[in-house]
Amino acid sequence: MADTTARHGDTGMSLTMKIMIAMGAGVVLGVILNQINIEFLNQHLVAGFFGMVGTMFVNALKMLVVPLVFFSLLGGVTGIGDIRVLGRVGTKSFALYLTTTAIAIAVAITLATLVGPGKGFDMTGIDTSGVTGREAPTVWQVFAAIVPTNPIAAFANGEMLQVIFYTVILGIAVLMMGDEAKPFNAAVSFMNDLMMKVVSIVMAFAPYGVFCLIAKTFAEQGIGLFIPVLAYVITLVAALGIHLFITLPGMLKLLSGLNPLTFMRKMRSAQVFAFSTASSNATIPVTYRCVTERVGVKKSVASFCVPFGATINMDGTAIMQGVATVFLANVYGIDLGLMGYLTVIGMAVLASIGTAGVPGVGLVMLTMVLSQVGLPIEGIAIILGVDRLMDMIRTAVNITGDAVVTSIVAKGEGQIDMTTFEDPDAGIIDDHEVEIPHAAT
Ligand code: ASP
Repeated sequence: MADTTARHGDTGMSLTMKIMIAMGAGVVLGVILNQINIEFLNQHLVAGFFGMVGTMFVNALKMLVVPLVFFSLLGGVTGIGDIRVLGRVGTKSFALYLTTTAIAIAVAITLATLVGPGKGFDMTGIDTSGVTGREAPTVWQVFAAIVPTNPIAAFANGEMLQVIFYTVILGIAVLMMGDEAKPFNAAVSFMNDLMMKVVSIVMAFAPYGVFCLIAKTFAEQGIGLFIPVLAYVITLVAALGIHLFITLPGMLKLLSGLNPLTFMRKMRSAQVFAFSTASSNATIPVTYRCVTERVGVKKSVASFCVPFGATINMDGTAIMQGVATVFLANVYGIDLGLMGYLTVIGMAVLASIGTAGVPGVGLVMLTMVLSQVGLPIEGIAIILGVDRLMDMIRTAVNITGDAVVTSIVAKGEGQIDMTTFEDPDAGIIDDHEVEIPHAAT
């Protein structure tokens, strides 16, 4: 529990500890508000005040993403210095991201098939009218869309794959300029440090943001929503647990030799952020910070692998799709057969490449998967009510997968600082970080 030990700072507590307390308090208050169910409080405190602070906090995180990724990746590409290394990092991380996602969904489908949630489910009283689907893109369309027509539009819309593509090209061009680019590189490095400071400022507000986000969610999500789909929820949480506590740590140990317990402890604040915001994208600044400053991955690798993973790697989301497909197949009494399930795995992996990590996108991807195997997409209405909480949990799994792959790739390339990894206090944020130095007199 290294990052929850007492730290120097105004209140003598690490930021992670404060965030954890805020999260616990948010759950308690949210459940109480849900139970007492007073219209005035629901409107002005929950939807009003908590909604406002939560939105401001998530917006502030999103505000960091594009400039942070741009400057850190540009610095990363020019820092690696060798285009072949960059190619290797790209290929290895891509292959590992696809592999972890495929393993995740295969395990999920197997578990769900064994447990069999949804058999004998009663559909009466479920309103399925509001569910609309989305056409699945082809693999060619997904890859074609990586090249932006207008980089400014890509940056403005936060299209991460396009931002990554453009930045890598720019970085390669900078490398070609050789010595002439030195002043530019110095400026990029300064902008990088500056962005990390901005991250610290936003993170200092995290306890309040997390508290409001969590209190709002739990106030709005009654326990009643869970009862009818309990079998789905339990199977899904179990599959997510297997991936988080067995598959990912196992892969980390096997492929990099890093200690999974130390790793998990160091990723805790990113997991809490992912849980609170339900957005891998918004969590990029925190994942990046944890991976570089707590785990010790060099920026040259992390600056590429973290935003890349947040966009293309969604293990938790794939697990949800696997469990949901089996559940809905059982509800409708349709046997998908082996081919059906293989299609689900392929579709889920493909869908995760082309879709950004934002709240609720897993359901959109599920519509593509369901229509591909001929299951009625209206069935999504059954699991809609519990999806926010499931989204929070699966997003925490998603970013852990990103960080595991990033660390495996970094270890293979000799791009991890083991002193940082072994130091339990490395990279802990405390209140001193956001102090403004007094002007020298
Ligand atoms: N919210 C998830 C993420 O951002 C995606 C999803 O499963 O809906 O990673």
